[in-house]
Amino acid sequence: MTINILRIVEGTSVDGPGLRTSIYMAGCPHHCEGCHNPQSWGFEAGTPTTIDNLMHVIANNEAPVTLTGGDPLAHPVEVLKLVRRIKAELGYNIWCYTGYTWEQITHHPQLTEVVRHVDVVVDSPFVLALRDTSLRFRGSSNQRVIDVNASLSAGHAIECEQYADVSTTHFHQLRAQ
Ligand code: SF4
Repeated sequence: MTINILRIVEGTSVDGPGLRTSIYMAGCPHHCEGCHNPQSWGFEAGTPTTIDNLMHVIANNEAPVTLTGGDPLAHPVEVLKLVRRIKAELGYNIWCYTGYTWEQITHHPQLTEVVRHVDVVVDSPFVLALRDTSLRFRGSSNQRVIDVNASLSAGHAIECEQYADVSTTHFHQLRAQ
């Protein structure tokens, strides 16, 4: 079983707190206007990489992990295998970026199963009109840094307090009306 990987950045601080191993996966169905990484959209881009090889790199770095792309949740079978192994064998903190909203994820059993093994999901497509360079770990104000455990327990998205701001909450309240 392989995943097409665009690149792995070791020791980065831009995709979550601390120095992390960021894994950029090829393939994204969302095609957001203004995407910072349109070369990641093709599912055939990058290099096919086994889960074993990814585990080897992650274990060597001894650091928390961020899955990004592309959209990691476009590969639910492979990514489920990877996140299960990271948690079971290494116990590292995992963040996952996705263009799906939390509500889409939790209406989809396979995606829900993936995020059960993830600590934080940064959700929603990038919206150019809501771009805000002052936000931490996200590009537009509709995107949320979501505490997975708290959200699954509560039955709705709960943002990590330290990264939330009023505009995000307000945007999603308006969408829900
Ligand atoms: S979800 Fe992310 S990678 Fe995919 S098109 Fe949107 S901004 Fe680009």
